[in-house]
Amino acid sequence: MRHVVLVSCLLCAPSFALSQSRVTPSDSLSKVERTVAAHAASQSADALALLERLVNVNSGTQNLAGVREVGRMLRAEYDALGFTTRWEDGAAFGRAGHLVAERTGVGPRVLLIGHLDTVFETDSPFQRWERLTDSTAKGPGSTDMKGGDVVMLYALKALQASGQLGRMSITVVLNGDEESPGAPIAAARRVLIEAGARSQIALGFEDGDGDIRTAVAARRGFTGWTLRVTGTPAHSSQIFRADIGPGAIYEAARILNEFRVQLGGDPLRTFNAGVALGGTTITSDSTGTRGTAFGKSNVIPEHFIVSGDLRVISAEALASAKSTMSAIVATPTPHTTATLTFDDGYPPMAPTVGNTALLAQFDRASRNLGFGEVGMDNPARAGAADVSFIASTVPQVIDGLGPGGTGGHTVNETLQTRTLAVQIARTAVLLNRITRAAVVP
Ligand SMILES: [Zn+2]
Repeated sequence: MRHVVLVSCLLCAPSFALSQSRVTPSDSLSKVERTVAAHAASQSADALALLERLVNVNSGTQNLAGVREVGRMLRAEYDALGFTTRWEDGAAFGRAGHLVAERTGVGPRVLLIGHLDTVFETDSPFQRWERLTDSTAKGPGSTDMKGGDVVMLYALKALQASGQLGRMSITVVLNGDEESPGAPIAAARRVLIEAGARSQIALGFEDGDGDIRTAVAARRGFTGWTLRVTGTPAHSSQIFRADIGPGAIYEAARILNEFRVQLGGDPLRTFNAGVALGGTTITSDSTGTRGTAFGKSNVIPEHFIVSGDLRVISAEALASAKSTMSAIVATPTPHTTATLTFDDGYPPMAPTVGNTALLAQFDRASRNLGFGEVGMDNPARAGAADVSFIASTVPQVIDGLGPGGTGGHTVNETLQTRTLAVQIARTAVLLNRITRAAVVP
C-alpha cells in the first residue's frame, strides 16, 4: 500500500480519494510504474502552465495562423522529446493542417490522437485563460482539447524521464480541423487514417463526457440524409383521388412516420429530421440548412424536401438502417415520387472486444494508482470524434482520456485542473503496460 499513498500525496488530488480496498499486492504498480507516476505528478504545475499558454493562442478552426502557432508550440515539445515531427499542410482541404510526431522502438505501435483547433474563432468573446478557483479554470480549448493534448504530452514526458520512452513505437497525430473538418474529408483525414493502418492500439484524448470516471470504448457515427418527394399538383378539392394522389407533403409525412415505426425504439439508433420545406415551389441553399417555400392551401403541393441525420453504433447497424429507409422510400404512393440520399460523416466506433479489453487496462491502471474505477461512457451520449476514423482498422481503441470539465463548446468551458495530473498518470502507466505486451482481450 505504501506506493499508493506516495502517489496520492504527490498528486495532491484530495477529490480523487484512494480506493485502497481495491488495490491488492498482486494487482498494483511495479517499481518502474511508481517512478513513472512520480515523474507525472512532479510535472503537473508545468503541464498546467503550458496549457494556459496554449489556451491563450486563439486556434479557432478558421484561424489558420493560430492553429499553426499552436502546432508550432507543441512541435517544439515533441522535438525536445526526440520525436521526428512534421507539419502536414492543409491547403488541399482548406484548413491549416496537422502536426505529426513519430518515434520508433519495439513492441506494438500506438497512435495518440488529439486536435489543435477549437470552436472559438477570433470573433468569439471567449479568448483567454482565467483561473476561477484553486481547482477550476476557464478557457477556450481548456478541456476540448488542448487539455487532452497536454495530458498526452506529459504522459510521454513522464515515460522519458523514467527511461521508458525509448522502447516505444508511438505516432502522435494532432489534427488542425477536428471541430470543422476540411473537405474532401478523405484528404482531411488521410494522415490519421494512414497512421491508423500502421497501429495496433489507439488512444484519443478528447474530454469525452467531461467525467474522468468514464472513458469511451464505443461511440456512434453520423450520416446525413436528404429525402425529396414530389406529388401531382391539382386543385386541393381533388386530393387523394385515385388519379391524383396525396401530394408531396402527405407522402413525405407518411414516409417519415414509416421511418419512425420501423426504426424507432433503439436508443443507439436515432434518426432526426432536422429541417423541411414543402409547397408548390421550394428553394434550398447549397448547405441545405436554409431555403424558401411557396404554396397555397387550395393547391396540392408538388415538392417537399427534408434532411436529417442518422446515428448508429456499428457499420452493420448503419447498413441495416440505410437499407430499411431505402426500402420504405422505394415504394411510394401512386402519383408521387421519392428519392433518398445519404452523406456519410463520421463512421461509428463499434464496442469491440479489443476496445473493451483496452478500457479494462485503463481502469486497472487507474485503480492501481488509487484513482478509482473507470467505466464506459454511454455511447448514446458520446459525440463524434476523430478516433472514429480509425476505429474500424485499429484492433484496440479508446477515447476520452482528456481532463475533466464542463461547458464544452460554450463560453463557460471549464477545466477541473486537478484532473489533468490524474489523466497524465493514468495514461503514462497505461502506455508503460501496453507497450510491453499487446492487451489480450
Ligand atoms: Zn474535441
